[in-house]
Amino acid sequence: MAITAARLEEPPARRTSIFQEDHDDLRESVRRFVETELAPHIAEWEETTFPDQVFTRMGELGFLGLDKPEEYGGQGGDYVCAIVLAEELTRNANGGLAMAVGVQTDMALPPILEFGTEEQKQQWAAPAIRGEKILCLGITEPGAGSDVSGIKTRAVRDGDEWVINGSKTYITNGHRADVILLVTKTDPDAGYDGFTLFLVPMDSPGVIREQKLQKLGMHASDTALLAFQDVRVPDTAVLGQVGKGFKHIMWQLQGERLIGCASGVAGAARVLELTIAYVNEREAFGQPIGQFQVVRHRIAEMAAKLEAARELTYATVRRFAAGEYPVREISMAKLVVARTVNEVVDGCLQLHGGAGYMREYGIERRWRDMRLARIGGGTDEMMCDVIAKSLGL
Ligand SMILES: Cc1cc2nc3c(=O)[nH]c(=O)nc-3n(C[C@H](O)[C@H](O)[C@H](O)COP(=O)(O)OP(=O)(O)OC[C@H]3O[C@@H](n4cnc5c(N)ncnc54)[C@H](O)[C@@H]3O)c2cc1C
Repeated sequence: MAITAARLEEPPARRTSIFQEDHDDLRESVRRFVETELAPHIAEWEETTFPDQVFTRMGELGFLGLDKPEEYGGQGGDYVCAIVLAEELTRNANGGLAMAVGVQTDMALPPILEFGTEEQKQQWAAPAIRGEKILCLGITEPGAGSDVSGIKTRAVRDGDEWVINGSKTYITNGHRADVILLVTKTDPDAGYDGFTLFLVPMDSPGVIREQKLQKLGMHASDTALLAFQDVRVPDTAVLGQVGKGFKHIMWQLQGERLIGCASGVAGAARVLELTIAYVNEREAFGQPIGQFQVVRHRIAEMAAKLEAARELTYATVRRFAAGEYPVREISMAKLVVARTVNEVVDGCLQLHGGAGYMREYGIERRWRDMRLARIGGGTDEMMCDVIAKSLGL
C-alpha cells in the first residue's frame, strides 16, 4: 500500500520514547518554573550559593516528590518524572543547584522511604518532600571515598543510645541541612555487615559544621567538612537494619547515578546548542566558523556521541523504572556519559575560542561543573571496576 502524505503526518500510534504525554506536560511546567524563578538568579547564586527558599518553593510546587508516594506528600509519579526534573534543572538552571536538589530527592530521600520506620518517614521524608527540611548524605570521609568500606566514623551503642564519632567531607547541602543520613561503622570486625545508617539531626550537640569547602565548579551548592564528636542519638535514629548499612546505601547509589547521567547529557546538550548558534554567527577568514569543514565535523561527532550517551541512559532508565536492577549497565552508562559530556563540553569551549574562557558566555561554568561527573557518585575508575567484575575479571 502506498504511504500517503497524510499518513506520514500522523503521530505514531505508540510512543517509543521513555517520555509519555504527562512527562511532556511536567517538563513544560518545570521549564517554566526554572526560566522564571531560577534562571534570572543563576549568576548571583554562583557567588553566594542558592537560598534555602528554593527548596521551600520547589516543595510547594510538588517538584521535590515527583516520584515519591502520595501518602508522604509526593506526586506518586514514576522514576522518569525524576529524570525530567534533573534534565530541566541542569539544562536551564545550574549544575550546582541541580546537584543539591538531587541530593535531597534522589540520594537521601529514597533510603528513608525504603528502609525508614513510619515515624522516620513522617519526621524527615514528608517535610523534605514539602521543602520544609533539607537533607544531606554523608558517606565520604577525609580518609575514604571510593573505598567506602574504609570509613572510620564509628557508632557505639551505649544503653538505648548510640554515640557517634568521626568526620565526613565533600558533603553537599552539609551547611544548610536539617538532618544527615550518616554512614557509620558499628562493627569493625564484621566486614560489609558492620555498617549502619543513622538519621542525625544537624543541630545535635557535637555535630560541627567545619569550613565551607572551596571548589572548582558547582558553585551554587554548598559543600561541607563535618565533624561528629560524641554525638548521642537514640535507637530510633537507626535507619534500616543495624549492620546492613553498606547494602542499604549501595542500593540507593544506582538510581542516583542514572539521575546524574540524565543531568549530564542535558547540560552538555545545552552547551552544544549554544555552540552551534555561536559557530553560525562568529566569523573568521571571511565566513562563519561553522562553515569550516573541520568545525562542522567536530560538531557532528560530538552530537553523535552525545546521542549515544543519551540513548544508553534512556535504555537503562527504562529498565530501572520497570523494576530491574541493572548495576552493570548503570555503571556503563555512568562511565560513558561522564566521559562523553566532558569531551563535548571541552570541545564546545574550544570552538568558542577566547569567549569560551570568559564568564560572560557561561560555557566555562558548564565546563567546570561537568568535571564532577567523572568523580562524584563513583569515579570512572570505580565504574570500570564494577563493569570488569561483572564480566568475571
Ligand atoms: C562537589 C562534590 C560533592 C560531593 N558530594 C558528596 C556528598 O554529598 N556526600 C558524599 O558522601 N560524598 C560526596 N562527594 C564525594 C565523592 O563521592 C567522592 O569524591 C568520590 O566518591 C571519590 O572519592 P575520593 O574523593 O575519596 O577519591 P579517592 O577514593 O581517594 O580516589 C582518588 C583516585 O584514585 C582512584 N582509585 C581509587 N581506588 C581505585 C582502585 N581500586 N582502582 C583504580 N583507581 C582507584 C579514583 O578513581 C580516583 O581517581 C562529593 C564530591 C565532590 C567533589
